[in-house]
Amino acid sequence: GFNCGIVGLPNVGKSTLFNALTKSGIDAENFPFCTIEPNVGIVPMPDPRLDRLAEIVKPEKVIPTTMEFVDIAGLVAGASKGEGLGNQFLANIRETQAIAHVVRCFDNDNVIHVANEVDPRADIETINLELALADLDTVDRAIQRLVRVVKGGDKEAIATKAILDRIQPHLAEGQPLRSAGLDDDEKRQLKSFGFLTLKPTMYIANVNEDGFDDNPYLETVKTIAAEEGAVVVPVCNQIEAEIAELDDEERAMFLDEMGMEEPGLDRVIRAGYELLGLQTYFTAGVKEVRAWTVKVGATAPEGAGVIHTDFQKGFIRAEVVAYDDFVSLGGEQGAKDAGKWRLEGKDYVLKDGDVVHFRFNV
Ligand code: GDP
Repeated sequence: GFNCGIVGLPNVGKSTLFNALTKSGIDAENFPFCTIEPNVGIVPMPDPRLDRLAEIVKPEKVIPTTMEFVDIAGLVAGASKGEGLGNQFLANIRETQAIAHVVRCFDNDNVIHVANEVDPRADIETINLELALADLDTVDRAIQRLVRVVKGGDKEAIATKAILDRIQPHLAEGQPLRSAGLDDDEKRQLKSFGFLTLKPTMYIANVNEDGFDDNPYLETVKTIAAEEGAVVVPVCNQIEAEIAELDDEERAMFLDEMGMEEPGLDRVIRAGYELLGLQTYFTAGVKEVRAWTVKVGATAPEGAGVIHTDFQKGFIRAEVVAYDDFVSLGGEQGAKDAGKWRLEGKDYVLKDGDVVHFRFNV
C-alpha cells in the first residue's frame, strides 16, 4: 500500500489529526487485513465518482481505495543523535513514502508550546534540521565507503560520490535535499539511499477555526513551502476531530453551517495522494464497485497486479471505458452501443477514472 508519515513537534496537533483521519468513516469489515499497528490508520480516499458508478451498477458493495497514514510520535531536538526515541523515530520515517509535517499555526493559552511560543519557522527548522542531520549521517558514511571504490575507477561510484560531495555541505547547514537543486537523473542515482529530506513533503498548517485568513503563522508556512517547492494544506484539526465523530447526516449539516464543501481531511488525504503521484481506476461489477490505486503512468498489467499478482502474470486484455463515458452513457452496455468500449493490450497506460475489466489466464 501507499503511505504517508505524520511528523511534527509535540503539541502541534498530530494526534488530533491522526485520530480524525482514522475515525473518518472506514468500514472496518471491508478491510480485515488492515488491523495493523495502533499508529497506522487506513484511510478511505474520498471520491464522489464511486457513488455515481454505484447508482448505475447497483452493486452489493462499494469499496473505496485507501491510503495509510502513520503517526510518527516522539520527535525532539537531538533525535538524529539518538536522543529520546530518536532512532526509532527516524527508522519509522524511513519506511514511509511521503511526509505530512504538521505545523502549529494556532494560539491557545491552554496548550503549552514546547518552545514557549508559536513560531512556525523555528518549528519547521527544528524538524528539518533533525531530518537533514540524519541524511548527513547517511552521506558521510557513504562517502567513506565510496572513497575506496572510486580509487578502483568505478564510473558509477565516481558519479555518485561527486553528487554526495556536493550535497554534503547543504545538509550540514540543516537544509533539506529537496532544496539542493538536484535534477531527476541525480535523484534517481540517489534513490537507494532513501534520504528522508527527499521524500515528497507537505506541510499541514494546523490553524484555529478562524485562522484560514489573515494568519501570519500560515503565511510563514506558505513562504517556507514555496522556497522548498513543497505543498501547504491549511486545516483546523480540532474541527476535523469533531466532524469525524458525526454520522453522515449530521456531518452534512455541520459542513453546511460552517460553509465548507467538504471536510478539510479530504483535502489532506487528496494532497497525500497527489504527493505520491497516484491515481484511481475502477472495477464496476454487480458484486462490487471498487476503486483501486496505481501510480500515474502504470500500464494495464500493472494495474491488474494491484488486484492480484496472478491477474498481472496472466494478463490478456483490459476492457476499458473512460469514467465520463461510463456515467454519461449509463454504464457498460451504453458505452458499447456508443462505441466507447475499448479492448486494450499490455502497453496501455491507465488513465485516472478508467472503468476496467481485466481478462486473464489462470
Ligand atoms: P501532538 O502532541 O502533536 O499529537 O498534539 P495533540 O494532537 O495532542 O494536540 C495538542 C493539544 O492542542 C490538544 O489539547 C489539542 O486539543 C489542541 N489542538 C489541536 N489542534 C488544535 C487546533 O486546531 N486549535 C486549537 N485551539 N487547539 C488544538
